[in-house]
Parts: sequence; structure tokens; C-alpha cells
Amino acid sequence: MRLNSLCVKDPKSAETTPPHQLAIHPTSSFAFESVESAVHAFENPMDKHLYSRFGNPTVDAVAQKIADLETYDTGFEDGWGVMTSSGMSAISTLIFGTLKKGDKILSQANLYGGTTEIIQNFLPRYGIDIVWTDLTDSDKVSELLTKDAQIKMIYFETPSNPALDCIDLSAIAAIGRTHKVLTAVDNSFCSPVIQQPLKHGIDYVVHSTTKYLNGHGNGISGIIVGTGLDRKKTIWGAMKMVGTNCNPWDAWLTNTGMKTLELRMREHSANAQALAEFLSQHDQVESVNYLGLTDHPYHTLAARQMRYFGGMMCFEVKGGVETGIRFMNTQTMGTLAPTMGDVDTLMMHPASMSHRSIDREIRLAHGIGDGLIRVSVGIEDVQDLIENFDKALIQS
Ligand SMILES: *Cc1c(COP(=O)(O)O)cnc(C)c1O
Repeated sequence: MRLNSLCVKDPKSAETTPPHQLAIHPTSSFAFESVESAVHAFENPMDKHLYSRFGNPTVDAVAQKIADLETYDTGFEDGWGVMTSSGMSAISTLIFGTLKKGDKILSQANLYGGTTEIIQNFLPRYGIDIVWTDLTDSDKVSELLTKDAQIKMIYFETPSNPALDCIDLSAIAAIGRTHKVLTAVDNSFCSPVIQQPLKHGIDYVVHSTTKYLNGHGNGISGIIVGTGLDRKKTIWGAMKMVGTNCNPWDAWLTNTGMKTLELRMREHSANAQALAEFLSQHDQVESVNYLGLTDHPYHTLAARQMRYFGGMMCFEVKGGVETGIRFMNTQTMGTLAPTMGDVDTLMMHPASMSHRSIDREIRLAHGIGDGLIRVSVGIEDVQDLIENFDKALIQS
């Protein structure tokens, strides 16, 4: 071979022993040994690698690991996962794959902002409408499904953000089954370590794996998890046509993050519990919203369907918006960032940040007070968090 041809040619793999760590496969396509093996791959595109939009060995391995976590101890042996480029693309792929013009989604307020926007502003353009209701009222949900046969999916989050209202997974799954309506849950707030919606009979789980599953804030990806080959074909088919595939780098980072998922979720929860207990005794704090506090209205339901109470909590500082801003700027443990679920503490003051352009009355009606602080409690030493917050509260 001449010099230029040598430059162009990809080298043969030098692998003699399998690597200890999952390999990243940054390749758009896969090379066939023969025409026959190409034909075989084209005929089995879900099982054989052809082209990375359809599937990639790194991405598929991580997707299966997440599916294994979501189906852990459930008895399901046909769990599958389809990883996507983001949490939002997991949600849109699920909807594109399962619903059509004329169908309706039943959901409740307080969904993730991006989800509300796609359901409210985008999907109606394609003939998919939304019906909002209170999903904690099972009788109302049954009544709506009986009255409106166009409702084809119940979609929700539990616990909700930032109010931490919980919805009974088993109750909604049972109603969905009775009415032959699909049920889907965004489990990003919990991760499968804390909550496994499939175990309760929910049909599909979606995640922004950007959050707790990755846990280190260094990638954007999502996943749809379900059981059964037919459903996998539906979702995988939509993913490859819409082109919402995950890239192997972000899948790989998610896998690295997940190695400590159980340890992290346990620690996030223990820290949030200690911080919540401390803050609920504090003179400068009006109220604390954390599922692990025994007087929380959803404590009993959360204890039934969640393994730990999670790392998300809110508290209301006394003194309104100005005190809220001063507290945020004074404390030094939490990063002010519009995300959650990382190893380090992340904080938001909705009144001055995410919800600043929303009418005060509407914001208050949604339970987002002037001094409300949302904390994604990290896994730092909790004593540092407590001391830092205490000092900042006194100074604010
Ligand atoms: C962040 C988030 C999303 C969107 O995920 P991206 O990865 O940012 O697209 C969806 N649902 C919930 C609950 C989230 O927190």
C-alpha cells in the first residue's frame, strides 16, 4: 500500500484482552465481513449494529443497564431501554411513538417546564391535546377516562417539582389498565434506586439521565424504559426515525456515574433528611417541604412507593423575595444552577430565577412562595451544609 492509502485506512483493533471498562464506540456505521452478514444485519436492525442512529454498542449496553435497574426485583425479564439525546427527546420520542392525531394525554400541572411546554404548545399543532386534572383523585381520573375515549395516555411525575406532591403509582397503573390507556412516568427525580414505576404496573418510564443517573453534570441524555418486544419495536422505531439517538460519549459518562448511583441516592437522602430536620427548627425558616419529615402530607405514600425520600427539598425563608436573594448570595455551599441531581448541592430561588416572569398570584397559587428555596442536596459532609446555611440564614 502506498503512503496515502496507509494514512486513510483505519487500523485493525489491537485488543488482545477485553478492557476492564466499557469501550466507547465513536463510529457512525459498522463494517460487515461479507454481503451475507450485511443482509443479516439489515434484516435484524434492532439486534445487529448497522448505523449508530439505529443503535451503538456503548449506548445499548448502558440502556440495558438502566432497564435492569428499573426492572430489578420486579419479575420482568423482558425489560429494555432506548437511550436518547436528552430527557426532552425521550419524552417527545415516547409521545411520537405511541400517540397519533386525535389522541389526548391526561396529566397534571407542575410537570417539568419543558414537558409542559411541549404538551401545551407543540403537540396541539399535531392534533394531540392535553387534559389537565388532579391525578391524586382516582375517582376523577376514572370518570374522565370513561367520559373521554380519546385519552390514550396518562403522563406524570411523582414527586412533583418543586411542590413534592406524590401520586399513587399503583392506583394510576390500575386505572390505566382497566381503561386500556397507557401510563408513563418521568422518574428523573428519583432514579430507579429510589422508585421503580414498572413494578407498580406503569407501562413506560422516562428519565432525563442528565440528572441523578449521570450524577456529575457532565452530559445530556435521556432514556425510555419498558417491557416486551412489541413496545421496544415501537419506541426504538420512533427513536431511529426522529433521530433522537444518544451519543456514545454521554452514554459512557452516564455509565461511569451510575456505578455510585445506589451510594449517592442513599447519601443524598440522608443529607436532605438531616438538613430538613435542622431547617425545620430554625428561627429564620417559615416552613420546610421534605418527604422524609413525618408530618409531610405525602410522607406515607412516599414511604410506600419510594426506597428513600430523595435529595430534593424546599424551604421558605422568612422575609420574602429580598431575604431569599440575600440568602442565595450569602451561602457558599450550593451552586446556583438550573439543574438538579449532581453530587454537589444545587440551588434555585424560583421567585427571582426560574419563575421571575410569572405573576406573583399564579406563582403563590402553585405553592411557590416569595422566599422559597429549592435545594438539590448534594453528598458533601452534611455538617458543612448545615453550618453554612445556618450562618447565611442569620446574616440574611
Ligand atoms: C431536566 C428534566 C427533564 C429534561 O431533561 P433534559 O435532559 O434537560 O432534556 C425532564 N424531566 C425532568 C423531571 C427534569 O428534571
